[in-house]
Amino acid sequence: MSTLLNADLHCHSVVSDGTLSPEALAARAHANGVQLWALTDHDEIRGQHRAAAAARALGMDYLTGVEISVTFADTTVHIVGLGFDADDAQLTRGLAATRDGRGDRAREIGAQLARVGIRDAYEGALCYVDNPELISRTHFARYLVDAGYCRDTTEVFRKYLTEGKPGFVPHRWARLGHAVRWICEAGGMAVIAHPARYRLTANEEYALFSEFKQHGGQGVEVVTGSHSCAEYAVYAAMAQEFGLAASRGSDFHSPGESHTDLGALPNLPAQLTPVWQPLAERILRAH
Ligand code: AMP
Ligand code: MN
Ligand code: MN
Ligand code: MN
Repeated sequence: MSTLLNADLHCHSVVSDGTLSPEALAARAHANGVQLWALTDHDEIRGQHRAAAAARALGMDYLTGVEISVTFADTTVHIVGLGFDADDAQLTRGLAATRDGRGDRAREIGAQLARVGIRDAYEGALCYVDNPELISRTHFARYLVDAGYCRDTTEVFRKYLTEGKPGFVPHRWARLGHAVRWICEAGGMAVIAHPARYRLTANEEYALFSEFKQHGGQGVEVVTGSHSCAEYAVYAAMAQEFGLAASRGSDFHSPGESHTDLGALPNLPAQLTPVWQPLAERILRAH
């Protein structure tokens, strides 16, 4: 299959920190010309059957998806899984364990924000949460914007929710090897999400790619809403250097917040192997 397919293999629904239902995302992807779609909620696959059914009803091919939070070199790294069995028991258990600390972390974020004069942020953020097991920083950001503390969510992250800021609570997520194993043993492919976003040194980034490969990881996002055009070229070269297949996804969260809409990215560079080639057998075909 060619790199020219309009595939969008990274986005979020209300099952994690997006604002649209799986069905509304499917409709939006289809309307925007997406031919192969994956919903990749953070640490959660509860939306998969709904997303697959909605894609099928629209005549759009579908890959199961997830975005797992991982701690690597004291940094949070995201690993996307594609084409796995959505009923796999080990993956389901691993994701439940990964989600487990989010409630306590959120209460601590609320307590820290209270110390800088923002009251009831935990209760406020909860009003934006659809899945009680998945309260994220994005829900705090939405609350702080609507309560008038900041102009937009980007400003909330810059002032409050990132390292060194008063509402940042460090957290231990899954281990890289575990996340990759859960995905692979469920029949899927592990993909490094938006590698340009991490604050890793060159040595740490090399270690991430090497260890990811050793654990059985096979893909990397090259064209994503989180990368600049210059970064597409950097990670196209990395994909070739490490022998990884390339993925493409908007990382769409919400019509009002996301800069890149579903299906609106440039094509993958032609010299790369797209992830949908080795995943061909795992695609849920609508026709
Ligand atoms: P969490 O998993 O709770 O740490 O939340 C991570 C999510 O916060 C990411 O998936 C993004 O959706 C969002 N996020 C992280 N950094 C930023 C930022 N600088 N601006 C806007 N959203 C961000
Ligand atoms: Mn997110
Ligand atoms: Mn991410
Ligand atoms: Mn994402």
